[in-house]
Amino acid sequence: MRTTVFAPATAPGRAAVTIVRVSGPQAGAAIAALTGTVPPAPRRAARATFRDPASGDELDRGLLLWFPGPHSYTGEDLAELHVHGGPAVRASIVAALAAVPGLLPAEPGEFTRRAFDNGKLDLTAVEAIADLVDAETRAQQRQALRQLDGALGRLIEDWRGRLLTCLAHLEADLDFPDEGLPPDVAARVAGEIADLAAAIAGHLKDEGAGERLREGLSVAILGPPNVGKSSLLNALARRDAAIVSERAGTTRDVIEVHLDLGGYPVCLADTAGLREAGEPIEEEGVRRARARAAGADLKLLLFDASLWPDADPATAALADEDSLVLVNKADLRPLPPGAAVAGRPALAVSVRTGEGMAAFLDAVSRAVARRLDGAGDAVITRARHRQALEECRLCLERALTAPLEELMAEDVRLAVRALGRITGRVDVEDLLDVIFRDFCIGK
Ligand code: GDP
Repeated sequence: MRTTVFAPATAPGRAAVTIVRVSGPQAGAAIAALTGTVPPAPRRAARATFRDPASGDELDRGLLLWFPGPHSYTGEDLAELHVHGGPAVRASIVAALAAVPGLLPAEPGEFTRRAFDNGKLDLTAVEAIADLVDAETRAQQRQALRQLDGALGRLIEDWRGRLLTCLAHLEADLDFPDEGLPPDVAARVAGEIADLAAAIAGHLKDEGAGERLREGLSVAILGPPNVGKSSLLNALARRDAAIVSERAGTTRDVIEVHLDLGGYPVCLADTAGLREAGEPIEEEGVRRARARAAGADLKLLLFDASLWPDADPATAALADEDSLVLVNKADLRPLPPGAAVAGRPALAVSVRTGEGMAAFLDAVSRAVARRLDGAGDAVITRARHRQALEECRLCLERALTAPLEELMAEDVRLAVRALGRITGRVDVEDLLDVIFRDFCIGK
């Protein structure tokens, strides 16, 4: 017998409305305890007066929603109490529910856990809900919604279903050798496995766009001291995140800010000046700057217009296809047309006057979008998915070179398990039963 749990679903603090959810077999009894009535018609808002079950004192007047299981978020009987927001009402409703026999406060994530346990959501949908709640930009929101819609889950389940059929055919061939199954079962299964291995390998070649979109594309601002790196970061962040100073070498560490650039999440890092450092602390900063440069998805290489055409060689050496060349302080000296560093066209900007900043923002937004878009619908959004898919692909490749049909079947079984871990469906045996039932074994 499952417990019945309750918890506020909305954040604490003053608000127009607080929603408290109750899920489990005692949810109807909880409503009766607080309102003195039976649950209202399913999925229709009803007015209700909530009272303390012990004293009968009125706690609030609000709305009550009733979702009888299994047609609820959790798959269980679920009640939603919509009460006025604010600490006293919230605390009194929670205390009243806690006093109802059999009710327990929910653990973090417990409502969604119950939805998963009751088969309402697979693991990719559970993760999508977490991502949707955490989404800070439109692109993250869209990705989470696509995953919630089941784009990834369906693809994985489709692959898993095809592999289960392969496995069923192999096992039938092994277990019932005299039943007149087609002679080339292993060969035909091998063809299907090769197709699936290729499809999975292709899907893994997405350059991590989905994971980066969840976490934010890492963008590093790099350049010699005093070129305006901190000023640029501040201009982008529109707040004083990095110390802007006239003295060279003040940005000794890596400072990060999270930005929404045209709907895309960016984790922007300002790094210490790339130059031969004098003091140990600054040396460490330079070391981190170099490491950051190597790891950044996109590099903003910053040069000084007043020194043009002297482009800092250490910064120029970092220019590659993942970098944008910016020449700052264009207010001090205009940049000649066609200016470039290491063959990459330079954008003239002035953080001080704002000149060229719109064009720069446009260029950087496009560069970010290019790196985060295009992964399609069934996007791999977590390292967990990637590891399972890699494992599945390895098992399939091993299956294709297995010297015995028994070993081939074992590798396919492991591949099925790896896929099942992504969606949380690991009931391989049940599905095998279903598939076996469809077989014309004759007995
Ligand atoms: P960092 O060492 O590269 O981080 O450089 P800072 O952001 O600390 O800037 C160094 C100096 O250059 C500061 O005095 C800034 O005010 C100045 N500065 C930054 N951007 C501009 C600009 O576009 N034009 C001019 N004239 N000065 C700038």
